[in-house]
Amino acid sequence: MQKGRINVTGEDIFPIIKKFLYSDHEIFLRELVSNAVDATQKLKILASKGEYKDELGDLTIRISVDKEAKTLTVSDSGIGMTGEEVEKYINQIAFSGAEEFLQKYKDSKNAIIGHFGLGFYSSFMVSSIVEIKSKSFQENAKAIRWECDGSPEFSMEETEKDSRGTDIILHIDEDSLDFLEDNKINGLLTKYCKFLPVEIGFGKEKEWKDDKYVETGKDKIINNTQPAWTKKPADLKEEDYNKFYKELYPATFEDPLFNIHLNVDYPFNLTGILYFPKFKNNVEIQKNKIQLYQRQVFVTDSVEGIVPEFLTLLQGVLDSPDIPLNVSRSYLQSDNNVKKISSHITKKVADRLKEIFTSERENLEKKWDDLKLFIEYGMLSDEKFAEKAYTFFMLKNTDGKYFTIEEYENIIKENQKDKHGSLIHLYSNDVEAQYHFIEAAKSKGYDVLIMDGQLDPHFINHIETKNPDSRYLRVDAEVIEKLIEKEDGFESKLTSENESDLSHVFRSQLPADSTFFVSFEALSPENNPVVITQNEFMRRMKDMSKMGGEAGYYGALPDSYNLVVNSNHELVVKIKEKMHEKIGTEIETFNSEIQKQKTDLDALNKLKEGKKEEEIPQEEKDKAEEINKNISNIEKKKDKVLTEYGKENILVKQLIDLGLLANNLLKGESLSKFVKRSIELIEA
Ligand code: ADP
Repeated sequence: MQKGRINVTGEDIFPIIKKFLYSDHEIFLRELVSNAVDATQKLKILASKGEYKDELGDLTIRISVDKEAKTLTVSDSGIGMTGEEVEKYINQIAFSGAEEFLQKYKDSKNAIIGHFGLGFYSSFMVSSIVEIKSKSFQENAKAIRWECDGSPEFSMEETEKDSRGTDIILHIDEDSLDFLEDNKINGLLTKYCKFLPVEIGFGKEKEWKDDKYVETGKDKIINNTQPAWTKKPADLKEEDYNKFYKELYPATFEDPLFNIHLNVDYPFNLTGILYFPKFKNNVEIQKNKIQLYQRQVFVTDSVEGIVPEFLTLLQGVLDSPDIPLNVSRSYLQSDNNVKKISSHITKKVADRLKEIFTSERENLEKKWDDLKLFIEYGMLSDEKFAEKAYTFFMLKNTDGKYFTIEEYENIIKENQKDKHGSLIHLYSNDVEAQYHFIEAAKSKGYDVLIMDGQLDPHFINHIETKNPDSRYLRVDAEVIEKLIEKEDGFESKLTSENESDLSHVFRSQLPADSTFFVSFEALSPENNPVVITQNEFMRRMKDMSKMGGEAGYYGALPDSYNLVVNSNHELVVKIKEKMHEKIGTEIETFNSEIQKQKTDLDALNKLKEGKKEEEIPQEEKDKAEEINKNISNIEKKKDKVLTEYGKENILVKQLIDLGLLANNLLKGESLSKFVKRSIELIEA
């Protein structure tokens, strides 16, 4: 028997491996199975080149557990190793400068294993003793047995082994005994080895026999050796892609919307299939579904920083031999190949969507509502993607028709340009609630978009910034005439004095819990007498702050509305006339008193002309102050009279309530009072 020391310069590397790699110790199984796969693939290559002439036989890699002996064995029928090879590949691990390196990278455990090809040695994380029994494929090769207890000392001797290949026997450590549990091993194999290219057997298939569920002689194969991404796109149908999707996500019932089959061999190697899932409303929970593989070996499923943020919403697999297998995530993220992969995927995704748009637009339209959130997220977060997506992004109108941004501009440019040359895009985020605004817009020949998505407020901001000539207004942002301001307006039937008086009358009846601004607009007499609108800017800022992100300041403000009174509506004119009948003389008296004070003030102001502040006698200043006080006192009295009058005015109340009702703002007690009042008005 040969004894020796494993060639490491650090005194004792294994305790260090155990310590540093502790949290990731499960990867030992992936490492051993990968080695077994490599050994098997190498043999197949030799056979295909005629350098190996014997039967290949059964190449299944078997994992077996002996609970009594406390061993876990990985057996392959690959090329095996001769004594010299064990000496070369196992004993002489290149470990120059190990200590220095460990010192430097002690925080990134994963980097250590990968860097040194310590794959096989990771088995010491869970074992007290590791044995290798191997017989090379070479003619007349002698089987050898190697053993090591985790110290740098090992022993090696010739042994008996019938078949070609390698058994790695792990004598599991007392504190790692869970690795002898079938469930644990099954879980690890499913996680790391599900798509390895050589069949891997763990346990036996079972069947019912004589009322008992018994093991058959057949291996239970845990992997699919030819996952869809390794095949040619031309050989796959839609069903095959969907079937593979189910294989990846057994718990997902819905089919994906689209898939992208990546197949790149220059400037790097990358294959994979990405799926657009059907999105639920919450973007967050959908993330982290892409699985990263290296030659069919699972690496990680936390791909943030590896693929662009918005693509983490996709699902599927990426496989590249250029992705380092055993490195930490921070290392992965800074890896140049990985960076190139990332921007390449973005481009591919955009290209594929464009292709779907061009060749199967109808299909894309059908799925657009589900896809939109993803595309918007991409456009908001990635300039390059946005540039491409502009050509296929689709807007949907209230008739359910889809248009690209450019197509839509062509449709509305005749009728929806305002007097400043801006192209006004009207939209609704709630077709039910904004029904009458939409109808009003349509009756003017305007088109209305549906923008009810989670990201729409942000997205609208984004396109407005991109196209300064386009503006987006929610249909209830203004009264219809002012939504798209044209040159031709209406003359008002009220004087500005009328309007100022009436604004007190209307204000007296407004609900106290929100902020209302009263204004008068000379609209068409056909229009509603009272319309409640919400300023686009303020409202959008509030919507955006609800989604999180910036604009938090606006989120804290109360809702504010504009109560727009149509000064040309018959009923409004009637309210003015009634008001004059009732309190006209009183108002006249106030007005003439105010007028008198103002005349006095004008006279005083004349005296001041041409004088410097210090040249004005104190007496005159006092006088002016007194007049101003008088005016404000009279105005207060007048306001009080108007407010008192307004409070009793059921017509005003009724009109305001109708406006509130049209915006879904009339609720509870106010609503039931409105109903009662309406009945009384009908009866009267
Ligand atoms: P890596 O796989 O990264 O090269 P390992 O430490 O896992 O590093 O393995 C070192 C070498 O030992 C392998 O490159 C291979 O030549 C040999 N080896 C390991 N496992 C086997 C096996 N099951 N069959 C044949 N050779 C093996």
